[in-house]
Formats: sequence, C-alpha cells, structure tokens
Amino acid sequence: MQIADAKVVQIHYTLSSQAGETLDSSRGGDPLQYLHGAGNIIPGLEQALTGKSTGDRLAVAIAPVDGYGERNDDLVHEVPRTAFEDLDQVKPGMRLVASGPAGENVVTVAKVEKEVVTVDANHPLAGVTLNFDVEVVNVREASAEELAHGHAHGPGGHHHHG
Ligand code: ZN
Repeated sequence: MQIADAKVVQIHYTLSSQAGETLDSSRGGDPLQYLHGAGNIIPGLEQALTGKSTGDRLAVAIAPVDGYGERNDDLVHEVPRTAFEDLDQVKPGMRLVASGPAGENVVTVAKVEKEVVTVDANHPLAGVTLNFDVEVVNVREASAEELAHGHAHGPGGHHHHG
C-alpha cells in the first residue's frame, strides 16, 4: 500500500545534523506511527514520504523552512536571574516551561550570567537542516475514529487516557 492522505504509517527514522551527529532515532524502540496528511510530522518529511510503500528506504535533507522553521532572534530574551530563584539550579541547555501573555511555551536556557539568564524560545531544531534516514515499516488505512481525531491510535501513535 502506498503512503497517501488518510493512511496510518509506521516508520523507523534516524535524524542527523549536517555534521553527521545523530539527533534523534526511533531505532531500538517502537517505530513512529502517524496519520499521513494531518500535519502530525514536519511538512518536508510528510512530502518526502508521499507515494512510498512498505519496505522503502529514503534519505532526505529537509531545509529549516520545511522542518522546524528558521531561528527567530526575537525569541531570545534576557531575564533577571532573580526570576529563577525558586529553582535549585539554572544551567545552559536546561529546558523550562515559561508562562507568558501568549500562554505557556518551552524555552531553553542559552546562557547563565551573574545577573541575567538568556533564554531561547526557538525550537531546538529551528534553523537546522534535518537529514532523515527513513524506512517505511507499515502502511494501513486509517480508521474513521483516527480520521476524526486527526491522529493515529495504537502502538507508537496516540494513546487516550480515561
Ligand atoms: Zn484519538
């Protein structure tokens, strides 16, 4: 079966940086399962997988614009060190949930100085060209419930609780 909209797809993937460093991988665990055409995965990868079938392997380089977007320097902020008083420690690379006027978002601590902490609300992979090595493990029709929910159910997919 070919990958198209309204199919549930299982893939194994390894994501590498341009420098060849592995950033993420499904290998050694369950394959990633997603509903194709529903925006569950980044646009560039969804596009590259369209028309592929079970057993196909592909290597694809995805530009930031089709991945997690370009970095936006407006999302880098300096915050007084005192704002972090209730944390045991603040270290570069830490990820924190920040509450602001636009709701909650995840920020990464970029730099810690005596008076000021620099936080970065860009996605960690923003501005990064993503090199995916992908193997299509399974393709099946989505159920009516999955289509209504806009995501895949079952192993590697979405789990409902309660
Ligand atoms: Zn659901």
